[in-house]
Amino acid sequence: MNCIFCDIAEEKVPAEIIYRDEHAVAFEDINPKAPVHVLVIPRKHISTVLDINENENQLVGHLFQVANVIARKKGIDEKGFRLVCNCNRDAGQTVFHIHLHLLGGRLMHWPPG
Ligand code: AMP
Ligand code: ZN
Repeated sequence: MNCIFCDIAEEKVPAEIIYRDEHAVAFEDINPKAPVHVLVIPRKHISTVLDINENENQLVGHLFQVANVIARKKGIDEKGFRLVCNCNRDAGQTVFHIHLHLLGGRLMHWPPG
């Protein structure tokens, strides 16, 4: 299977990896939309949120914990940040390996575009 985020997780493709553990990897988005724009992914390939199984609940929860740690490390925890997970065409998903966008360092608008 050809998946850029699997390749990044396996370090076959370079990325600015800022966090790694047994189950998750986080790296800088190549086209940042905010001063802080980090992607948090599971090492396991899951194409979209629609493909998350019940036995992956802990893994998905772990992605939020990783985002929590990185938000603190980046110093955006107090002011705040946004976590985004796009699913399929209308949301603009372009990489079909689930990822949390961690966005911060500027005021976020609501509703999102
Ligand atoms: P989405 O539209 O939610 O699927 O977001 C995919 C994100 O992955 C976009 O913000 C891209 O800028 C980012 N992206 C795509 N390829 C890479 C890469 N090789 N390294 C880092 N970020 C990437
Ligand atoms: Zn993948």
